[in-house]
Amino acid sequence: MKKIVFVFALFFLAIVAFAPAQESTGKTVKVGWFQSNTFQEGMDDESPKGGFSYEYLMKVADYNGWQYKYVYGEWPDLFEKLRKGEIDVLAGVSSTEERKKTISFPSYTMGNDLYYLYQHSDTHVMDIFDLNTLQGKKIGCVKENRMTTFLLEWAKENGVQFEIVYYDGFTKRDEEFKKRKIDGIVATDNNILSISGYSAVVKIGEEPFYLAVTKQRKDLLKDLNRSLEIIQEMNPYFLHDLQHSNQGVSNNNNRLSPEENNWLAHHHVLNVGYMNNYTPFCGTSKDNQATGLITDVMDAIVERLNLKGTLFVRYKPYDNYNDMVQSLHDGTNDVVFPISGSTWDIDRDGINVTSPVVTVGMNLVYEGTFSEEKLRKIAVNSNNKNQQYYINETYPKAELIYKSSIEECLKAVKEGEATATIINGLRIDLVRKNSDYKDLTILQLGKSSSRFMGVRKGETGILLQLNRGLKLIGRDFGINASYKYMDEFYTYTAKDFIKKNFMTIGPALIILMLLVGIILGFDARRAKKLARRMDALNKNLEKAREDAESASKAKTNFFFNMSHDIRTPMNAIMGFTELLDKYQEDPLKRSNYLKKINDSSNVLLSIINNVLEMARIERGTVNIEESVWSVEQFNDTLYSVFQEMMLNKNIKFTRTIKVEHHQVYCDTIKVREVFLNILSNAYKYTQEGGHVDMVLREIPCKKMGYATFETTISDTGIGISEEFLPYVFDEFARENNSAGNRIEGTGLGLSIVKSLVELMNGTITVRSKKGLGTTFVVILTHKIAKQEEIVHHAFQKQPPLSFRDKRILLAEDNDLNAEITSAILTEVGFIVDRATDGNVCLDMLKNADDNTYDLILMDIQMPNMNGYEAAAAIRNLEDKKKSSIPILALTANAFEEDKQAALAAGMNGHLSKPINIQELMDTLEKTL
Ligand code: ADP
Repeated sequence: MKKIVFVFALFFLAIVAFAPAQESTGKTVKVGWFQSNTFQEGMDDESPKGGFSYEYLMKVADYNGWQYKYVYGEWPDLFEKLRKGEIDVLAGVSSTEERKKTISFPSYTMGNDLYYLYQHSDTHVMDIFDLNTLQGKKIGCVKENRMTTFLLEWAKENGVQFEIVYYDGFTKRDEEFKKRKIDGIVATDNNILSISGYSAVVKIGEEPFYLAVTKQRKDLLKDLNRSLEIIQEMNPYFLHDLQHSNQGVSNNNNRLSPEENNWLAHHHVLNVGYMNNYTPFCGTSKDNQATGLITDVMDAIVERLNLKGTLFVRYKPYDNYNDMVQSLHDGTNDVVFPISGSTWDIDRDGINVTSPVVTVGMNLVYEGTFSEEKLRKIAVNSNNKNQQYYINETYPKAELIYKSSIEECLKAVKEGEATATIINGLRIDLVRKNSDYKDLTILQLGKSSSRFMGVRKGETGILLQLNRGLKLIGRDFGINASYKYMDEFYTYTAKDFIKKNFMTIGPALIILMLLVGIILGFDARRAKKLARRMDALNKNLEKAREDAESASKAKTNFFFNMSHDIRTPMNAIMGFTELLDKYQEDPLKRSNYLKKINDSSNVLLSIINNVLEMARIERGTVNIEESVWSVEQFNDTLYSVFQEMMLNKNIKFTRTIKVEHHQVYCDTIKVREVFLNILSNAYKYTQEGGHVDMVLREIPCKKMGYATFETTISDTGIGISEEFLPYVFDEFARENNSAGNRIEGTGLGLSIVKSLVELMNGTITVRSKKGLGTTFVVILTHKIAKQEEIVHHAFQKQPPLSFRDKRILLAEDNDLNAEITSAILTEVGFIVDRATDGNVCLDMLKNADDNTYDLILMDIQMPNMNGYEAAAAIRNLEDKKKSSIPILALTANAFEEDKQAALAAGMNGHLSKPINIQELMDTLEKTL
């Protein structure tokens, strides 16, 4: 049970290992700053800075504490200044033997520059397919610039004579180009990206570039190398990600080849054939319109290629893959979608394919336990070769059982005619959501599958155009757009409804990264521990082997479930965020996307909360905090939470209470959590029309002054198999091969329940029969409250009067969080003033009349002055009244350490975000 302690140890070790690796140098570094679109922007101290180089410099400073002083200028001047040591660093400098003599280059590159010759896209004077058109053209170059050298070399090799016009800097040159005084310019693809109207004529070369350092400052070179070392270690894909996020449009936006021009000259309609009934890729709507990813992709391509109004897309559905491919050959269609298969398969179909439109994960669906045997006879839809091709490539030995639809394939698996079938990840909800397939197991496979558009062999014009379009819309477009067509992704767990958590996406991402760290640490530690134990338990070798097997099974299950459960809401969040950005003008779509993002965030949060909670319990940092509660009232609240949900699912929910002692001491938060988990499982795992019964009764208690309560929660749900029953309380254990696979969960709920019950010296037992139902019995002993100790906790329905008109100062930098918190507080009678950071909070308190504020809710991570600093400053105020105001920390950091830090800074308590309303109310009531 202490595994998670190790995880945390590892986790904190990891932080410690990274954090102090760099002492902050606090040096002021003079950086040369020239204007270059998407690379370096913001040409004076007032304008906001941005671009690839800016983010790179900031990241570097994260690890060495550099503070930048920007020296503005044109490239040749700055380059000269770097040589002379008048500035310290300059971004985007490529390395040559000559330059190495006077400038230092770090060990890591900043990126790779692709150099292009550009012209105005509307003129197309220079045509690379006819080099004569390049002869004598005026090309603007900048002195001392490597691109000029590359252009000259290219020209020499290709026998082209340009008229080179030299400029002192890019700005002047670009102006002259705009005024059309010159025919072309040379530039890197990344700074031309966002300018439309320029099109590349030809790539003239490529080389790495660096953040160069003046020779005079050896110390800076050392700082830089150390920072880059850490960046590389922490995120090897940093540069790639950065490049991706700074990419505007592709350089090739309007440069059409003669084939493309020729194709366009003869076509005004693009005929697209698609597979029918194949959402989210493609399908036909009720009003007979094509729908699905293909329509979004085609719209986006037409738009990005500036072909709107010139080229019209016409769609035609096909029920059969072969017919669809045939439609290319007989000239009915110019493009078909989706095509898949190996190069060999595609070649045999006599077609060419574009770059991938979308790449999806694949799943094996089978019944029972997995073994090689499951790969023997795989059912495939004879109308859909996408599936067959994947199997041919991945399991060449499998016998194919042909069926007429995917539903027939699944039926064949259920009836044992086939051992398995294959479904891609974007369509797996077909199985997950349908209770007919509840006994089937879904296994994610390692090999993904790409879907392409197909065109007739030899139709280069259209192929080039589609590929250009796909490049312009970006790699992630396909997967993101697909989510739009996957209506309801999943059903939410009861826990998600109950825990009214609020959050923004950012913290979830951060926590998710931590979580992955925890899981990885957990795994390594667990494996080591198991290995040690097996050594020691030589005698019980057989038992140890069994243990190891079940542990590894639990781990596999965990990764299997978790990776899916995390990835689904994560993908949804990312997909819908992108769509949100795209549909700026459509409020209806936007509010729909926002709702989906919010729902997905909540799912993600509940997973994260569960994992963190388990970790906290296992670390032993959870204490029992008891207060007096009415047994009936407590049970009432529980019952009413579920009553409506059960009713909506058509589950009959009954409750019986028979107790002698009505007022007891208990830790309500923990007891509530225990029953919420058990009841939400009963709700989750019971089908419509079922029953759930809760019976609370007092049973004899030997201990004087105490009362023992037995709560029995039974359901008529899917039940738990005999084999799985001994493992229900294990961490991450979830039953496979059952409907459980389709119900979200972490397999942590019951282990949390068991830990909490044991923490309170209680017991929990379970009885279950597969298909018939499950019964949990929880026995807890509580101290009986004396008459005078009884307090009334009525405010669950009505807030206490003591809240009315009290004024809270809420220090919170995030607008959304502030809005949510204010709404919750004003609802129960508080007046709320908001401060946007610690500084503002301190000032507001200082300037207010005495007694204005009754309490401060203090976020921790805020700009300018954080919560700890603000609290410490408040406690140091001379005005004793103000300095003793109650302060509660409100922070996303949910660890015990954070609680301690809050107390150490002089705060009175700690609340974790997202806000648990009940906890907030309880704490406010206690504090005020
Ligand atoms: P989860 O988050 O997966 O629900 P739990 O730890 O709460 O995790 O439960 C572990 C597993 O025990 C579930 O995945 C499910 O297979 C099984 N289980 C728990 N409660 C029930 C129930 N009332 N009926 C059927 N199966 C249940």
